[in-house]
Amino acid sequence: MSTTAVDQTPSVEMSRESPDHVRISLAAAMVLGVRPGRFYRDVRLHCINLLLTYADGCNANCAYCGLSRRRAGGYGERSFIRVDWPTLPTDEVVARMERYSAAVARVCVSMVSHRRAYEDTVDIIRRIHSRVDAPISALIAANLFDRDRLTEFRQLGVDTIGVGLDATSETAFERTRGRRARGPLSWRQYWQTIEEARQIFGPFKVNAHVMVGIGETDRQFVDVIARLQEMEVNAYLFSFYPEVDSPMARRRRPSLRRFRRLQLAKYLLQRGCLGVGDVVYDEAGRIHRLDVLPSSMEQAIASGEPFLTGGCAGKDGSLACTRPFGSYRPGEPFRDFPFQPTGEDVARVRRELGW
Ligand code: SF4
Repeated sequence: MSTTAVDQTPSVEMSRESPDHVRISLAAAMVLGVRPGRFYRDVRLHCINLLLTYADGCNANCAYCGLSRRRAGGYGERSFIRVDWPTLPTDEVVARMERYSAAVARVCVSMVSHRRAYEDTVDIIRRIHSRVDAPISALIAANLFDRDRLTEFRQLGVDTIGVGLDATSETAFERTRGRRARGPLSWRQYWQTIEEARQIFGPFKVNAHVMVGIGETDRQFVDVIARLQEMEVNAYLFSFYPEVDSPMARRRRPSLRRFRRLQLAKYLLQRGCLGVGDVVYDEAGRIHRLDVLPSSMEQAIASGEPFLTGGCAGKDGSLACTRPFGSYRPGEPFRDFPFQPTGEDVARVRRELGW
């Protein structure tokens, strides 16, 4: 983002910053009665996703992100994962979460990389925890954390930590988020934070968001999934989708076939039906075949489960954070399904897998 964009940010936005204000996802705004409407195929969300907001935006400079410093426009106007995130007073959002508590299975506070973000997130989590009886996730800016801060989050009542690792190779990380993108983030530090969070929060109480299509090979992707699984850290898959005006706006999306095969490989790896050595790649490094029992493969595909959205669960263990349309637009094939796919959906997935 140019400095001009920062300088021209309207003063009204200056007063609508965290911790007294937060942005909420469009889907969450619908759940809380702030915005009218329904999603395609009546997709529902049970997680209230909040995002910190600052007039001078996020300090990081991730090349694919709608909040990137280099992207034009004031921070408060920028879309994030291509949808509008309205800004509201934090206390109003908390009051609405109390009022609509039956529809709120989880709350997630997403940080941005900003000098005040840690203290402000603590403040916001306290406000939520004192009034809302739902488990809380924090999708943290890993570069702002050490062991003490992670421990403090746990003591505040956060039960799950998410880390937006996004890239699954060091080179892709450096190119899209690190020094080569003129960003402050470090691959090594992200992994250290994941490791420390895992130690403090316990098995499968930490997740890494990982994105297909930002410069990694299939093998690198599969290796990272296996590494996370060994650490007992969840991996939630996203498919790259270009944000208008971001530095990667012209990059092509990964093919549906590639994404489906990685979803399936991940599922089978996590269930112990597949080892990293059982994934066969072609000369271009793409998944060619998965050497698993045909019955395991068939069972997995027929269940539809490998293709569900990966996200944190509510108290009852069912998927709460479905992030509708995080990786695709309404009307397009669901890259991940925020509901149990129908028989027709599964038939389509089989064709997309191309086996
Ligand atoms: S899956 Fe959803 S609730 Fe969990 S950390 Fe990620 S954004 Fe937050």
